[in-house]
Amino acid sequence: MAEVGSESNPLRVAIIGSGPAGFYTVSNFLKHADVHVEIDMFDRLPTPFGLVRGGVAPDHQKDKSVTRAYDKSARQPNFRFYGNVEFGKHLTLSDLKRHYHQVIFTTGAQVDRSLGVPGEDLEGSHSATDFVAWYNGHPDFADLSFDLSCESAAIVGIGNVAVDVARILLKTPEELRETDIADYALAALSRSKVRNVYMLGRRGPAQAAFTPPEIKEMGELEAADVTVPADEASIDAATRAEVEAADDKNVAKNVQIIEAFSRRQRSGKPKLFTLRFLVSPTELIGDDNGKVKAIRIVKNELYRSEDGSIRPRATDQEEIIPVGLVFRSVGYRGVALADVPFNEKWGSVPNDKGRVTTESGEVVEGLYVAGWIKRGPSGVIGTNKTDAQETVACMVEDLRAGRYFSPDEPSVAAAQALVESRQPRFVSYDDWTAIDKAELAKGEAEGRPRVKFTRIEDMLAAANR
Ligand code: NAP
Repeated sequence: MAEVGSESNPLRVAIIGSGPAGFYTVSNFLKHADVHVEIDMFDRLPTPFGLVRGGVAPDHQKDKSVTRAYDKSARQPNFRFYGNVEFGKHLTLSDLKRHYHQVIFTTGAQVDRSLGVPGEDLEGSHSATDFVAWYNGHPDFADLSFDLSCESAAIVGIGNVAVDVARILLKTPEELRETDIADYALAALSRSKVRNVYMLGRRGPAQAAFTPPEIKEMGELEAADVTVPADEASIDAATRAEVEAADDKNVAKNVQIIEAFSRRQRSGKPKLFTLRFLVSPTELIGDDNGKVKAIRIVKNELYRSEDGSIRPRATDQEEIIPVGLVFRSVGYRGVALADVPFNEKWGSVPNDKGRVTTESGEVVEGLYVAGWIKRGPSGVIGTNKTDAQETVACMVEDLRAGRYFSPDEPSVAAAQALVESRQPRFVSYDDWTAIDKAELAKGEAEGRPRVKFTRIEDMLAAANR
C-alpha cells in the first residue's frame, strides 16, 4: 500500500467545527502541496463559519468578508462539509478513528463565564454570549427574549464583546437595518427603550481588554454621546511611564482615546454610553418581582500582584446604579468534547502546539486542536490563521513520522455512508450555498445585506433537505 499522504492513499483528516480555526486548518493544509489530503469538516449547525456568522457583530460586515476566503477553500475537490452533524451525538471519536488518520477539533469557546455575585440569576441578568448569539440569529438562541423596556443597562467587562453589545444596544433602528442582524432582534431593538448603557471595567484604562478601533467607534455613534468620569480615565504617572516604556501601541492608543472621551461634553444626542473604570459589581439588586432594578458596585484600587500583573482590589466605596438589564461579558469558555481530554480550569483542551495531550502532558496520538478550544478566547479572527498553521505543521510532522490512527475504512464513500446512516439530513457545501443564496435573496428584497434563517427547519427547507 502506498504511504499515507500520497496521491493513491491520501491523508484523511476530520475537522470538527467550521469556524475560522477550522477553515484556516484547511487553507494551511492546502499550502502543503506535497501532502495529499482529503478533508471532511463537520459542524453541528447546518451553516458554516462559526463565530463569523454567530459572533462577529452584524454591523461589522467587513469583518465577515473573510468567509470569501473560506468559501474558496471549501470549493477544493478534496474538501467536504457535513453540516447538521454533531460530534458526540451523531459521530463518536471511535467512529472517526475508523475513517480518518487525524482528527482536529476547532470547536471554539461556546459558553460564558459567570461573575459569582449575588443576584446573578435575577430576571434581566444575562450573559453577553447569549445576547450576541440571539441578535446574530443562532438557532439555539432564537427563542430567548430580552426585556428592553428599561432605560438603563450595564455591561460587566470591557473586552471587545462588551463593546459589541454596547454598540448594538445604542445603534438606531436605521443603522441596524443595514446589517444582517436577526429580524426578530431588529424588531425588538427597534422598540428598545434603553437610553443609558454603562460598561464597567474592574481595572484601569491601561489594562482595558478592548482594542483601539473598537473603542474609538463608540465615540462616533449617531445617537449616543460618550462619557468617562475624569478621575477614572486618568492614569497615574508611574502607569503612564510604564505604558510608554512598554511600547504597546494598543494600550497607548486606548489610554489616549479614553482621555479624549473624558474631556467630551454632551452634544445633545438622545442616548449615552458611560464607560467606567476601577469598579466591580458586588450584587445585582432585584425588585419585588425578582427582576434586576440596580447593580451595586465597589470602587477598586490597583496593586501589583506577586506574579507582576496589575490586579484590582476593592475599597470600601460603594455605589448603586439603577439598571433594568445586566450583561456579564467576562469571557468565554470551551465545552468538553466526548473522549477528549479537557482542562476544566482553563476551559480548553490541554495541548502542545496543537497536539492534544493528557492533563499530565502526554501526547494523545491522532488528536489535534486549533483556535479558541486550543488557546482560550483571545485575539482576532486572523489570530487563528497562525494558530492553525502551528497545528497543521505538527500534523504534517506526525504524518511523516507515521504517528496517526490506522483507519479500517479510509475512504470518502465509507465516511459519507456512515454520516448518512446517522444523520440523513446532513447539509453539504452545495446545500449551504442554497441556504446562502436564499438568505441573500431575502435580504435583497428587504434592502438589507442578508436576512438570516434562524430556525434549523427553515435552513434545511431552503437546502431541500
Ligand atoms: P476578553 O477580551 O477576555 O475581555 C474580558 C473582560 O472581562 C476583561 O475586561 C476582563 O477584565 C473582564 N473580567 C473578567 N472577569 C471579570 C470579573 N470577575 N469582573 C469584572 N470583569 C471581569 O473577552 P471578550 O470580550 O469575551 O472577547 C473574547 C475575544 O474575542 C477577545 O480576544 C476579543 O478581542 C475578541 N473579539 C474581537 C472583536 C473584534 O475584533 N472586533 C469583537 C469581539 C470579540 P480583566 O482584564 O481585568 O481580567
